[in-house]
Amino acid sequence: MSSSISFSEQVNRNFDKAAAFTNLDRTLLSQIRGCNSIYRMSFPIKRDDKSIEVIHAWRCEHSQHKLPTKGGIRYSKSVNEDEVIALASLMTYKCAIVEVPFGGAKGGIKIDRHEYSDRELESITRRYTFELAKKNFIGPGVDVPAPDFGTGAREMAWIADTYQAISGGNIDSLGCVTGKPVSQGGIRGRTEATGRGVYFGIREACSIQEDMDKLGLSTGVEGKRVVIQGFGNVGFYAARFLEEAGALIIAIAEWDGAIFNPKGLPVQAVHEHRVEAGSILGYPGAEVLATNMAALELDCDILIPAALENVITDDNVANIKAKIIAEAANGPIAARASDELTKRGVLILPDAYLNAGGVTVSYFEWVKNLSHVRFGRMQKRFEEGAYRRIVSAIENVTQRQFPEEEREALSRGASEEDLVNSGLEETMVLAYHQIWEIRKRLGKGADLRTAAFVDAIEKVAVCYQELGIFP
Ligand code: GLU
Repeated sequence: MSSSISFSEQVNRNFDKAAAFTNLDRTLLSQIRGCNSIYRMSFPIKRDDKSIEVIHAWRCEHSQHKLPTKGGIRYSKSVNEDEVIALASLMTYKCAIVEVPFGGAKGGIKIDRHEYSDRELESITRRYTFELAKKNFIGPGVDVPAPDFGTGAREMAWIADTYQAISGGNIDSLGCVTGKPVSQGGIRGRTEATGRGVYFGIREACSIQEDMDKLGLSTGVEGKRVVIQGFGNVGFYAARFLEEAGALIIAIAEWDGAIFNPKGLPVQAVHEHRVEAGSILGYPGAEVLATNMAALELDCDILIPAALENVITDDNVANIKAKIIAEAANGPIAARASDELTKRGVLILPDAYLNAGGVTVSYFEWVKNLSHVRFGRMQKRFEEGAYRRIVSAIENVTQRQFPEEEREALSRGASEEDLVNSGLEETMVLAYHQIWEIRKRLGKGADLRTAAFVDAIEKVAVCYQELGIFP
């Protein structure tokens, strides 16, 4: 899809638009906006057929105003320096918006993971980690990667294992990366976290009567017609949680095509069909759309781009019919298209807020790694004992016995997963209302993206100002 300016310029355009609403010093603004450090590396790997290939990769630490820096690692053919910088800057703003105490970073390896065997992917991942370690671009107090497009728990386990092997008995070394499998120091709920956070963000947006009235929609998620573009980890879980809340998933688009059913597609069944058949296409009872991009142009209440950047641009913005666009992906709407949609009254839930659930739970995982104890381990049984005593006291006073099932439910102590999900919900709800209030303060013409950027800029600015470096 065409766009006249680069991805990082688009993010900077959004930054500048928001910066104009602040009274901050110009040098301070340029310090916040600029990319602090970037490491570009090339290294050879031996392919299974014994040929040698040179791999190109990057890690960008956009801002060290808080340490460690944090952000995923992407495996994609489209990775380039500008993309990594743009995504790292979004991480800085994202962490600030949800008050996760990290600077922003991002990494990328320019490969299509489908073209490599598991052994080759492991060797690329381990070598990349080694390169990062060599230049001090990884470590629990320095820079902490996580999954992103094309990577998952398996790659994070390889990274942790490589880092541990070379970190000389550092007791906190597992905190060098998040999104690990639970058996390797990961945390329950991380896999679903971004999609769950997307759901919480949409739920909050849909709960505000005055915003829904403007869109001619009723409040609540129930009954809303949703289109999902990108059925990877984020798209799948967002769709599942929305479906559970009563939304109708009318279309799902993947790289090889899109399926549509105005009566709703059962998310888990489509997923299982994909696992079996290798594609969502061919799911029984669904219409196949001409192209995956056609799904973006369907008449719907909520459109969720959940794949890559720049899918809504000058080329197709005129055909977009959604009333709400929920940016589960990073940068799915080009800056000019975003302005046009806002002018048309579309409610855009911006990426830097909406997909921050992933990094929020990464933060919980990192804290777990540094504290060396699972959340809930110390208090779960103690809480259960206390709740049971309260239940018994109520039974004594009321002379009425609770049914066993109710008794159990009332007495349950929080598990690690309960605590993670509750912390995630609290974070997403609080941040939504913060940016909503800021949009109100900024007045006419300001959208939620601008409000989210103002929020981020002001929070990062304080870190520099309180050091006495900038006015
Ligand atoms: N890659 C994810 C993002 O873009 C997660 C980052 C993290 O958990 O550090 O937000």
